[in-house]
Amino acid sequence: IQTRDTITLDTTAVGYKDIGGLDKELQRIREMVELPLKFPAVFDRVGIEPPKGVLLYGPPGTGKTMIARAMANETNSAFYVINGPEVINKFYGESEQKLRNIFQEAQQNAPSIIFIDELDALAPKRPETGGEVERRIVGQLLALMDGLTSRGQVVLIGATNQPNALDPAIRRPGRFDREIPLRVPDIRGRIEVLKIHSRNAALAPDVDFNRLAQMTPGFVGADLAALCREAAMVALRRNLPRINELLQGGFIPYETLVNLQITMNDF
Ligand code: ATP
Repeated sequence: IQTRDTITLDTTAVGYKDIGGLDKELQRIREMVELPLKFPAVFDRVGIEPPKGVLLYGPPGTGKTMIARAMANETNSAFYVINGPEVINKFYGESEQKLRNIFQEAQQNAPSIIFIDELDALAPKRPETGGEVERRIVGQLLALMDGLTSRGQVVLIGATNQPNALDPAIRRPGRFDREIPLRVPDIRGRIEVLKIHSRNAALAPDVDFNRLAQMTPGFVGADLAALCREAAMVALRRNLPRINELLQGGFIPYETLVNLQITMNDF
């Protein structure tokens, strides 16, 4: 993993198999992102420009960042992250230069995916922000998007919790003109996410994913992941009661390790 400022070339191997409950959404996003990255020529045949940008919107923790990362890994694309608030605040005065650098590098290293998290911070409705600086940054982003000439070899994925706070210009054709809502998962989605996040854990036979999913309406993927982590910690505490002794040079008997399981009560 190589990190410079906001530019991150990420190699964390999250893939499609790690994403639960979003089959339809993933299918559509793959069509728009993967197809142009892998087969730019098919768009020439049908005489249209490949999509440049996809906007993912929905509440926090529904998997927007995860999808973008998975997409980059699965297509072997370079992955660049632009964090909206960070570009505005941390690089105040140099924001436009930062954006230009990232776009340039992405084009040099194509195929690439540029993920813009919290896009609303970077491209808010112009009348509401008013400031000259903000206007310049939105203008720069629009110009960079319009200037992408790499025939689908650089794809933008934008993420926001509030699509209506975006400058409408950023959603026009040729920019973020495809939008995919990511909703709070339903019961089947929750079952899938719970299974994914506990697939490497030793589970007791009493663990009932249907029941757990019934008990967790409103939980997004990030909440369900946290629930699984917490259940694992509860199981550890239950099985290793004298954790201080352990840390001061104790040992874990083989039977304890073998018997260590997460049970329904730990969730
Ligand atoms: P934010 O708007 O806060 O940036 P986000 O929508 O980008 O949120 P992610 O960062 O992708 O959400 O999700 C956080 C974590 O939650 C992921 O790393 C993953 O562990 C888990 N998660 C979220 N959605 C899913 C999902 N659909 N399947 C499996 N895990 C998920």
